[in-house]
Amino acid sequence: MAAAAVPTTNGSATRRARWTYSDRILSRPGAYVDEEDGFVPGEAPITSVENARILVIGAGGLGCEILKNLALSGFKKIDVIDMDTIDVSNLNRQFLFREKDVGQPKATVAANFVMKRVPGCTITPYVGKIQDKDQDYYLQFNIVVCGLDSIEARRWINATLVDLVDMENPDSLKPLIDGGTEGFKGQSRVIFPTMTSCIECQLDMHAPRAAVPLCTLASIPRQPQHCIEWAHIIKWEEERKDVTLDTDDPEHITWLYKKALARAQEYNISGVTYSMTQGVVKNIIPAIASTNAIIAASCCNEAYKIATTCAPCIGMPGQNNYMLYTGDTSVYTYTFEHQKKDDCPVCGNLPKDLVVNPTSTLGDLVESFAERPESQLKKPNLRSEGKSLYYSSPASLMAQTKGNLVKPLNELLSDGEEIAVTDPAFSTVFKYRVHFS
Ligand SMILES: [Zn+2]
Repeated sequence: MAAAAVPTTNGSATRRARWTYSDRILSRPGAYVDEEDGFVPGEAPITSVENARILVIGAGGLGCEILKNLALSGFKKIDVIDMDTIDVSNLNRQFLFREKDVGQPKATVAANFVMKRVPGCTITPYVGKIQDKDQDYYLQFNIVVCGLDSIEARRWINATLVDLVDMENPDSLKPLIDGGTEGFKGQSRVIFPTMTSCIECQLDMHAPRAAVPLCTLASIPRQPQHCIEWAHIIKWEEERKDVTLDTDDPEHITWLYKKALARAQEYNISGVTYSMTQGVVKNIIPAIASTNAIIAASCCNEAYKIATTCAPCIGMPGQNNYMLYTGDTSVYTYTFEHQKKDDCPVCGNLPKDLVVNPTSTLGDLVESFAERPESQLKKPNLRSEGKSLYYSSPASLMAQTKGNLVKPLNELLSDGEEIAVTDPAFSTVFKYRVHFS
């Protein structure tokens, strides 16, 4: 088809040549086109893409891909937030950065690079934390796309966008598209705040990795990682107690590696390597460029579909909202519906049930909030219906309440009582109903 048949906006056909193919998607009807949702092929969806204001959170591995994809899909008004600066180790996959950029803020360098390559696209960087911005800031956007590696930041933006929803104002509903990768695995999901399952509803999908019990490390290791952890946790403490372990010091890693290797040989375990030692000790999950590319592509596809209604997006109420990619076993994706939870502390209104041993202490309970997959709170503060049970800050409240930590729960609470848990990292109040086992 001649380029002239493609509708043009803001200039000549030549200028739109770059978007010839996406313009074709938007200027013709199709089998999957969402006509019920008001899709009218032609100028309108093209203008929708150009005028949509998109916020990208994260300008790292996923963020570079997302910014590039959005700009090349025809989005022209993009903002990006990232608090990090570029490290030399980012350069193998964060392709918007060069050696000369090391030490510079990721958001600024990424924005400038994409703007130079895609004229007409404006990317406004903000170097800082998402928590620096208020509700009015987030209200200006139509879609939020996250490419983050922090669960805490995801939970914060999720709670903020749920809070933003005003039933009287449909524009206050900001679709949230979240991408995440870990090695060969990744996910992309779409959330319509308050309407569909939110990140907090899905928190147990991201359970903290189970720690290996110390006894396994000390007695019978089964995996190469156990031998490394043994060298790391037990042997270092025994033999080099006076030296602080520096995970960036090759001599320290070599020492651990040799200890781990000897132990592995003793138990006939193969697979201990220097780089595995480094990975286990630094708790690094390898970042894989292709996984980032796949997940970012899926996220940007959803953004494009939401902005144009040219095809049904995932995430509509009652439909699939979560795409899981597992590249370590095969090239495999699975899309399913994660349901909204009535006892979600962010988008639900019921307290979660919490079964506790009545003779265990408040201290045990406080500690358990860090490990519970559905809470993952590192500094929980607890209040019962009548009183403060425990506060880790401010110091005065801590002094008043820390005596409770050693008390058994049945002395402080009654069966069926509701407690409110807060954490300085989140604005959410986590409500629990305590049941004695
Ligand atoms: Zn929720």
